[in-house]
Amino acid sequence: MKHRLVALLGLALLVLLGVSSGAYAADKVKAVASFSILGDMVRQVGGDRVDVVTLVGPDGDAHVFSPTPADAKTLASSQLFFVNGLGFEGWMERLEKSSGFKGKTIVASKGVKPHTMVEEEGGETETITDPHAWQDLANGKLYIANIRDGLIAADPEGKAIYEANAAKYLEALATEETAVKQALGKLPPERKRIITSHDAFGYFGAAYGLEIIAPEGVSTESEASAQDVAKIIRQIKAEHIPAVFIENITDHRLLDQIARETGAKIGGTLYSDALSGPDGPAPNYLDMFRHNVGTLTAALSS
Ligand SMILES: [Zn+2]
Repeated sequence: MKHRLVALLGLALLVLLGVSSGAYAADKVKAVASFSILGDMVRQVGGDRVDVVTLVGPDGDAHVFSPTPADAKTLASSQLFFVNGLGFEGWMERLEKSSGFKGKTIVASKGVKPHTMVEEEGGETETITDPHAWQDLANGKLYIANIRDGLIAADPEGKAIYEANAAKYLEALATEETAVKQALGKLPPERKRIITSHDAFGYFGAAYGLEIIAPEGVSTESEASAQDVAKIIRQIKAEHIPAVFIENITDHRLLDQIARETGAKIGGTLYSDALSGPDGPAPNYLDMFRHNVGTLTAALSS
């Protein structure tokens, strides 16, 4: 009888523990990251102390994401919400409100010099902030510093660990930055013009000296018009733009059509707004950069 009571108490304790930890492991900082690239960065800095849930996963498109009630529940039970900012997550404020999130939102792009683009829609021009700041490794380093500071503020006991993780990762990013500049610097200037489906590589182009042309704007929300496509086709032919690149998050039919009509070759797939799955070529931020730069140099140097 006594044994059975002890066993029952043990079971009750397990149930209680299970309930209190929710979707997260016990004793860890509970963090939500809005999209996969940022989720990887938070994991790199947070290490074992932080449990990260990513809302928009591998190959997902954060521009057109709509959070589910389960996402709201996850956010409500977390302490930190890491977002890109710069208007990338148009759904963010609504989610924060509807979930009753009581934690702290950390904008990873804080301090980035915003890149703007002029877009034309129905004859009207509009200046739009480009949110894809992570595509410049110098900005990636800023993201890491902001993530580190956000984690330290929420969990001061982990300060030394966050600082050490961030320092190690910042060094890896600096090494990669040098490699990227070297690899892309070797390309002949007339080859440094490419087509992608949406304007996700503005920061990349500015940092590494490539001209990027895209039929869709900085968001995937609006489709390219027939005039946009016709204009790009004329431009590719007139300027002998060598290659078009598919993106992992967007439909590739439009680019197939552009390649067919212009004779430009399809240079491969670039990872723009999301990582690949764990078995793909871009399972983390650094691998994403290596893959994109490898794909670009292979297609543009031949
Ligand atoms: Zn995008």
